[in-house]
Amino acid sequence: MSKGLPKRSEDYSLWYNELVKRADLAENSAVRGCMVIKPYGYSIWEKMQAELDRMFKETGHSNAYFPLFIPKSFLSKEASHVEGFAKECAVVTHYRLKNSEDGKSVIVDPEAKLEEELIVRPTSETVIWSTYKNWIQSYRDLPLLVNQWANVVRWEMRTRLFLRTTEFLWQEGHTAHATKQEAIDETVQMLNVYATFAEQFMAMPVVKGVKSANERFAGAEDTYCIEALMQDGKALQAGTSHFLGQNFAKAFDVKFATKEGGLEHVWGTSWGVSTRLMGALIMAHSDDNGLVLPPKLAPIQVVIVPIYKSDEELDRIEAKAKEIMAKLKAKGVSVHFDHRDTHKPGWKFAEYELKGVPLRIAMGPRDLENNTIEVARRDTLTKETVNLSEIEIDAYVEGMLDMIQSTIYQKAFDFRAQMTTEVNSWDEFVDVLENKTGFVSAHWDGTTETEEKIKELTKATIRCIPLDQKVENGACVLTGKPSNGRVLFARAY
Ligand code: AMP
Repeated sequence: MSKGLPKRSEDYSLWYNELVKRADLAENSAVRGCMVIKPYGYSIWEKMQAELDRMFKETGHSNAYFPLFIPKSFLSKEASHVEGFAKECAVVTHYRLKNSEDGKSVIVDPEAKLEEELIVRPTSETVIWSTYKNWIQSYRDLPLLVNQWANVVRWEMRTRLFLRTTEFLWQEGHTAHATKQEAIDETVQMLNVYATFAEQFMAMPVVKGVKSANERFAGAEDTYCIEALMQDGKALQAGTSHFLGQNFAKAFDVKFATKEGGLEHVWGTSWGVSTRLMGALIMAHSDDNGLVLPPKLAPIQVVIVPIYKSDEELDRIEAKAKEIMAKLKAKGVSVHFDHRDTHKPGWKFAEYELKGVPLRIAMGPRDLENNTIEVARRDTLTKETVNLSEIEIDAYVEGMLDMIQSTIYQKAFDFRAQMTTEVNSWDEFVDVLENKTGFVSAHWDGTTETEEKIKELTKATIRCIPLDQKVENGACVLTGKPSNGRVLFARAY
């Protein structure tokens, strides 16, 4: 129960791990780095998926599915791509087991060696572009706008539930276009879709920007990203959208006949968000009592808890609760009536607090007499008694849910504003990272060398070059060399 949940101020990382487990979101599995997503956690992911999927379709994309395995030779076709992913690939070398000679164990059958090893997909550009070669011949086949919902494997050394796991769930969009500009527009469009989703559904403000060369996706010309700030002052990359140029088209020889009768390589993009968003959602809003979920992603938006002594009382409360539930359901509000007699109301209150249910309605015998309900908000932990004859319950609840959604967004927005600091010297830079944390907006000379030196000295990385970066002449915080705009640094997950 929420009692005993570690405090954020004492051990943020322990608080996070415990919360993920106690709120029944996920747990570690027998396989190192791989998690089990439990039903409650999965139902939040499903809500995220449903909304993102709707947004992808609205922008013209269709879903498809490609194989889990990628022939090793495919991966090597794009030089920087293989270099970026080689260190974290799981490789299938055999396809059969057999009994050991002493019959006591099962071993890999050495005779069942694959002619060509298969990589468990860390991302699907290669297998998809090898397919696109067959799908694209002419400008009439373009644009090709495909998304896949799948699992991927990256052999991560340091893992953490949701934020960084060896196997994770995600979506990956892969699009092909006739012109460079169209591909860039698509890359930016999908970045905007992610930002809209983060802000309007997750209630999490994000900075839209471009990655420095150092942090760019292996095989991309440009990586756009959304960056969010967690409550411990660390940044989290929450989504990426890549402009691939013609790199994968060249690697897989994907050409199209142009309108004018020429033959050209296709332009590509890819973009993805993963179950890391679950981690972002938890870390952005939750408190020492448990999860705080934005109503738009909460599997249960309203819970009704009866307070009763006799079965007769429960029946009367239930009759009233059913009336309320019918009105709320008609408005698309997900509402749950918890009439379990195995737990006391106080226990249930703590449980729903831990699970982040945005609104709790309690009804007891006195409420029946007075035609009232007690309403508690999860985000502010405030309670009020409402007279049902003075309100329309459906409009009231809808209004409250909207208010909670915007209040938690505003809280996260204000926190980020307070935790974003402009600095103009190296001393200030280090001081903020050591004593305040958060985003540090500073001038940088634009070189990878300086970026790496800063990382080595402070563990801070360039989170992004913000898309709304202002032109401003300044001097790099480390080298003093000229810079014409600020970039955002932070220590990050
Ligand atoms: P990428 O293909 O590297 O651009 O990553 C696509 C998305 O997956 C980004 O939103 C990343 O934040 C996320 N991601 C990358 N690695 C992991 C991981 N090990 N666990 C969870 N999410 C990840």
